[in-house]
Amino acid sequence: MNAKRADDLEKVPGYRWHANGQSAFSGELLGLYQRLDRLFFGWAREYDAAEYAFPTFIPARELDKVDYFRSFPHLATFPVALDGSEENLRAFAGRGPLSAEGNVRLTAPAPIRDVITPAACYHFYVQFQGETLTAPRVVTTRATCCRRESHYLPLQRQWIFSMREIVCLGTADEVKEFLTACQERVDRFFKRVHLPVQWNAATDPFFNPSRNPKYLLQQLDPVKTEMVFQDLAIGSVNFHRNYFGEAFDIQRAGKEAFSGCVAFGIERWIFALLTHFGPDRADWPDLN
Ligand code: AMP
Ligand code: ZN
Repeated sequence: MNAKRADDLEKVPGYRWHANGQSAFSGELLGLYQRLDRLFFGWAREYDAAEYAFPTFIPARELDKVDYFRSFPHLATFPVALDGSEENLRAFAGRGPLSAEGNVRLTAPAPIRDVITPAACYHFYVQFQGETLTAPRVVTTRATCCRRESHYLPLQRQWIFSMREIVCLGTADEVKEFLTACQERVDRFFKRVHLPVQWNAATDPFFNPSRNPKYLLQQLDPVKTEMVFQDLAIGSVNFHRNYFGEAFDIQRAGKEAFSGCVAFGIERWIFALLTHFGPDRADWPDLN
């Protein structure tokens, strides 16, 4: 199966692609989605990770603390609502809310103070803001993430997608030890099921990278390693140094906490499994 083509994927029972960069699942494919998330969650539980469920939005003020909007303006998606004045709402409803192309013809928007979650782990730094950790902390969450991209491809590049993350906050050594062990754990899985995935050093997709000191730093000292199936990153292992600990004043052992995360893109894992093992459930590996 050439799953790269939307019409091939469209034939897989239980899959529906939406051209605005979103996927719908049912039947066996929804089962696969859920089993994959349970697999990742099972790895998190090996570290006694506590699970959190977070809301969809993050206050823009919080992400601004890590300069998100200057680093990734091209990825950000904001929730927009109309200014609630009667006059504004009347004008919107009265003038024909949609153009012939289906574009919403907004009148005055209300102030925008939030951003739609672009990565699951940001919620934890906001949540633990100002805390002093007496031990390393490992936590996990699954989030529906939103990243504006220049184009979309079923399962591979979506506007809205699902990310499971396992996050560790602690000293530099505690975080490094966690990331190494977690990477080994995931690699054992790839070998067991014979899924050809390579680990490659990578950098985050900064806006205007050559002018961004964080990009230059990541090039000098790689802190991101991706799980790459064919040419697609299906997950990543990230060492943030004490960047979030500093921005959100999280302390560990008398210093700003270090942090790191292991992120899994669920739709991309589904893509990898369908491409490598085919569309029939009987051919999929055991995910337990
Ligand atoms: P990152 O934080 O960029 O390392 O993203 C973590 C994981 O999320 C990636 O390794 C992908 O598996 C997944 N991911 C990132 N962007 C997208 C997207 N636009 N569509 C689908 N999955 C994505
Ligand atoms: Zn993360």
